Amino acid sequence: PPRFSVVATAPPDSILGLNEAFAADTNPEKMNLSVGVYKDVSGQTPVLRCVKAAEQRLVDGEKTKGYLPIDGQADYRTHVRKLVFGDTIDASRIAVLQTPGGTGALRESAAFLSSQIPGARVWISNPTWANHQAIFASENVPYDSYRYLAADKKSFDVDGMIDDLTTKTRPGDAVLLHACCHNPTGVDPTAEQWNMIAALLSEKQLLPIIDFAYQGFGHGLDEDAVAIRAITNVCDEAIVCSSFSKNFGLYSERVGAVSVVSADSATSAAVQSQLKALVRSNYSNPPRHGAAIVATILDDADLTQMWHAELTEMRTRIRQLRSQFVETMKTTGAGHDFSFLLDQNGMFSFSGLNPMQVDELRQKYSIYIVGSGRINVAGMSEDRMDHLCKVVAAVIE
Ligand code: PLP
Repeated sequence: PPRFSVVATAPPDSILGLNEAFAADTNPEKMNLSVGVYKDVSGQTPVLRCVKAAEQRLVDGEKTKGYLPIDGQADYRTHVRKLVFGDTIDASRIAVLQTPGGTGALRESAAFLSSQIPGARVWISNPTWANHQAIFASENVPYDSYRYLAADKKSFDVDGMIDDLTTKTRPGDAVLLHACCHNPTGVDPTAEQWNMIAALLSEKQLLPIIDFAYQGFGHGLDEDAVAIRAITNVCDEAIVCSSFSKNFGLYSERVGAVSVVSADSATSAAVQSQLKALVRSNYSNPPRHGAAIVATILDDADLTQMWHAELTEMRTRIRQLRSQFVETMKTTGAGHDFSFLLDQNGMFSFSGLNPMQVDELRQKYSIYIVGSGRINVAGMSEDRMDHLCKVVAAVIE
């Protein structure tokens, strides 16, 4: 009998599934606020100008398509270290691995935990990015959740988080944290709260795993590293998972990195060797192009300046869309105050819209939002804000 006849259909990815429905929707007024990519004024996800310039140089100067080292391109890894940690930690304590995107970084971290620290559980915020649990489950790392979003669905439940991490964890467990621009809520701890969280991690001997997918999308490249600084100030060990999908707009090139901070350089060398061993039997070595783009930009003062300007432009525009939405909603007479969106960071926010309202927006008006009510603010557009707010007002009334 055919062996594959036993294979059952896997459930579709909840967010990417919406994307397919959006593509098939023929309503000219349709709007996609679901998937997590930045869109510019013209509704496109652009290639940054600094990226185009770097690619031109790469094409002109490229001499080989030979394999990269297992842990990636050396100058790329040095740049990642600087971008994430500045010069706050001795470089010899940080093992850096180039990975296929932030997802690859998280997956290698999970594999590292599972192979080197078996038995450790990972604590994940409730709610979190829809892929986090699946990634750790794939490497057989047990996980549980800690409280994060307050009952009002708008603010940070700092007491709940501290209480859960204090009372439920065991020493040696890991805690997955979003460094900034928490996905899906947009709600981040303050610098002071990060200090509290960091002190608790240190005191309880919990291993921080920091998902850094949005560096530069919150308040700025350095500002967004406040969690990294707070934690590495008091914890000897930490894992940081970087993604350059959003901040360089390199989504499909799959560029990311794992940085593992160890207590001393001898340990760090051992960690680097284990990370390489994991990669070797997984995908052998990483793809060249995306990381070469990032390294080319960060190697060159002019391209770096161009990148900073383009990143600032994306960040500022998302903030403007937030305030335009809040102001325009006020004019609809719906009587629902969305001002809480102004304090939130990054592309995402919980809108507070319930599943019925989300359904109605999709079916009646072709506005696509994730069932949880998470909206991608970067999917809004200036010239169609009136229409969006009118129909949101219609479903909440
Ligand atoms: N972590 C979070 C919180 C994310 O939102 C994302 C992407 O949406 C990722 C990680 C993964 O990023 P990448 O596309 O680079 O794999």
